Amino acid sequence: MKHRVLRAFARLVFIALAAGAFWLLYTLPVPEFLPTLRVLSLAPASLAVTPPALPRAAALPDGTLTPVEQPPEEPEPVGPPGDIFVFMYHDLTEDLSQTSPWRTTVESMRSDLEQILAMGYEPLSLEEYLRGELRAGQDYFIVTFDDGYTTNLTLAEPLLREMGIPAALFVITGSTELPEHLTWDELVRLRDGGIFTIYSHTDSHMDAEGTADAVFLADVHTAWEKITEHLGEPEYKILSYPDGAYTYSSMVALAAEGYSLFAIQNRPWWYKEDNDLGIRILVRMNVAYEADMPYLVQFNRSRNGFGTVAAKLAAIEAARIAQEEAIRAARTAWRTRPAVPWPVG
Ligand SMILES: [Zn+2]
Repeated sequence: MKHRVLRAFARLVFIALAAGAFWLLYTLPVPEFLPTLRVLSLAPASLAVTPPALPRAAALPDGTLTPVEQPPEEPEPVGPPGDIFVFMYHDLTEDLSQTSPWRTTVESMRSDLEQILAMGYEPLSLEEYLRGELRAGQDYFIVTFDDGYTTNLTLAEPLLREMGIPAALFVITGSTELPEHLTWDELVRLRDGGIFTIYSHTDSHMDAEGTADAVFLADVHTAWEKITEHLGEPEYKILSYPDGAYTYSSMVALAAEGYSLFAIQNRPWWYKEDNDLGIRILVRMNVAYEADMPYLVQFNRSRNGFGTVAAKLAAIEAARIAQEEAIRAARTAWRTRPAVPWPVG
C-alpha cells in the first residue's frame, strides 16, 4: 500500500519535471555561444511537387480491362499578363532628312524592337491578344501600323520577318489609290506574307469626334465592305480610330455590331483597356525616330500603378512576409520579456 502511494507520487514528480524541462527548452532563448540550427525558408505548399494520380484501368463486364487513359496534360499557367506595350508606327524612310514623328527609319525601328526585347518583352499578335494567349506575369509588345504606307511592305515587313515579329496594319481603305500608299494588290501580298494582319482605319480617315455618329459609322461600314471584298472577311472586327479621336457612343454602337477591339493613341482618360462595358481598347504609344524607349516603356508601365502584374504579386508577397516577420518578432519579445518577480506576501 505504502509502495503504491510512493510510486504514484514519483510518477507525478517525473511528469512535472518533464513538463518543466520541456517548457524551459521551448521558451528560453538559445545562448549566443551555442551553434544554432535555423530554418531559413520553407517552400510554400503550392510549390510542393505532387505526383500526378496514376491512371487506372477498370474491368469491363467480360473481365477484360479498359485501355488505360492518359493523364490530362498539365494546363499552361493562365492569368493576367504583365505589361503590354503597343507600338504605333506609320511610315518609314531610309532618308534621315525625311524623319518625322510619323516617319521613322528601319534602323531606328530595329533599335526600338531590340531594346524592348532586351527588356524581356515578348512579341504578341493582335489575334493572340484577343484569344487571351498570354502567360501570367509575362510582358508583351504588339506592333501596329496606321494608314497603309508602301514602306510597310518594302521596309517594315522584311525587318519584322527577319526578327520574327508579327504586326497589324490598320489601313485607310479609301487611300489605296494615293501615291506612297499600298494598293489592294500590295495589301494582298502583305497579308499573304503571313507577318501582317490587316484591319480597318476607316475609309476616309474620318475624325469621329468631329462627325455625327451615323456618318462615322457609315464610313466604318464602307471600310469593312472593302476589306472583306479585297482581302476576305477578317477574323476579328477591329478598328483603329484616326488620330486617336474616338467617341464613346460610336464605340458602344460598334461593339454591338461585334467589334471586339478599338485601337487608340495614348490618352489620359481611357487607361483601363477593359472598362465597365467590356469594350476592349488598346492604348498605343507613338514611337518616333530615335524614340526614348526606356522612357516610353516606363510611362506605359506606370498606367498600371505597378510596373507589371508580376511586380504587383511580388508586392503582395512582400507584405505577407513582412506581416509574418512582425508576428514572429512579437512572439520573441513575449518569450524574452524580463522576468517579473513573484509578489512576496
Ligand atoms: Zn491615321
